[in-house]
Amino acid sequence: MKIAFIGLGNMGGPMAANLLKAGFDLTVFDLQPESAAPLVAQGAKLAGTAAEAVAESTVVISMLPAGRHVKALYLENEEVVRALKPGTLVIDSSTIDAESAITLARELSNKDINFIDAPVSGGVAGATAGTLTFIVGGTQMQFKQAQPVLEAMGKNIFHAGDHGAGQVAKICNNMLLAVLMAGTSEALRLGMNNGLDPNVLSKIMQQSSGANWTLDKYNPCPGVMENVPSSNGYQGGFLVDLMKKDLGLAMDTAVQSNSPTPMGALAQSLYGLHSLKGNGGKDFSSIFTLFEQNDKDK
Ligand code: NAD
Repeated sequence: MKIAFIGLGNMGGPMAANLLKAGFDLTVFDLQPESAAPLVAQGAKLAGTAAEAVAESTVVISMLPAGRHVKALYLENEEVVRALKPGTLVIDSSTIDAESAITLARELSNKDINFIDAPVSGGVAGATAGTLTFIVGGTQMQFKQAQPVLEAMGKNIFHAGDHGAGQVAKICNNMLLAVLMAGTSEALRLGMNNGLDPNVLSKIMQQSSGANWTLDKYNPCPGVMENVPSSNGYQGGFLVDLMKKDLGLAMDTAVQSNSPTPMGALAQSLYGLHSLKGNGGKDFSSIFTLFEQNDKDK
C-alpha cells in the first residue's frame, strides 16, 4: 500500500512519522518544504507537488487547516484532480465543516474515489505517541478499508456514521473542550487570587468532581505540568485561531440544527477576544492569560 501524506504541521508531521514506523511506503508534501525534512530523514519520499505525491499512491491522507484548503486541494487543484486514480482512498483528518466533507465525498465518488472524513482528537502528544482518537464519517466498507492505516496512528477508531458525521462529532467534542479549558482556567485563577498554589489546587480538582481532560493532560497554568504548551510559552500544540475556527463551525452547526449552545457561544466570544488581543498563534490553553489580574486589581 502506497500512502501520500499532505500537510505536515503540528499534527500531520508526527502522524506521518508513525506511518513510517509502521513500515508504510510514504510520500509526503507540505507547502512549507522545511516541515518535510524530518520525515525524509526517517525514510519518506519527498514530492515536489501535491499532485506528484498523489499520483503514486492508493491512499491519500490530508491534515490541513480548514475546509477551504481541503476543497482547494481535491476539487480545484487540476493537477491533483487528474492525478487521483479511481479506487484511491482519501482520508481527510483535518477538522472542517461537515457540509464540505459531504460535498467532497459526493464529488470524489463521481470519479470512483472513496473519501472519508476522519478528524482526530488527542492533540500533538497523541499524534506523537500514536494514540489519537479517529472519528470517521463514511460507509462501512470505507471505514474497514481505512482501519489498518488509522490503527498505525491511533488507539481508538470510531465509526460515527455516514459522510460528515465524523466532523459533527469532532465539533461537539471541541466545543466541550473549549468550555472546559476556559472553565478550568477561570477556576485555577480564582484559587490563585485567593492564595492557593495552582499545583495543589490542580491535584485537588483532579480527584474531585471538577476533574477533566485539561487538568489531567493539558494544564493551562505555566509550571504545573511538564511537556505541555503552558510550560513552553504556549508554543506549539493547538492554535487559538484553530480553536476559534472550530467554535465557528460548532455555532454554524447549532444554528442549522436549531440547537441551543450558550456555553459554546460564550467560549467562542472568549477565544475571539483572545485572538484579537494578538494570541491567535499561541496554543489554546493560553486562554488562561485572559483571566490574569492587572497589578492594580490585586
Ligand atoms: P498546522 O497549521 O500546524 O499545520 C497545517 C499544515 O498544512 C502546515 O504545515 C501548512 O503548511 C500545510 N498546508 C496548508 N495548506 C496546504 C496545501 N494546500 N498543501 C500542502 N500543505 C498545506 O495545523 P495543525 O495543528 O497540524 O492542524 C491541522 C488540522 O488538524 C486542523 O484542521 C486542526 O483543527 C486539526 N487538529 C489539530 C489539533 C492540534 O492539537 N494541533 C488537534 C486535533 C485536530
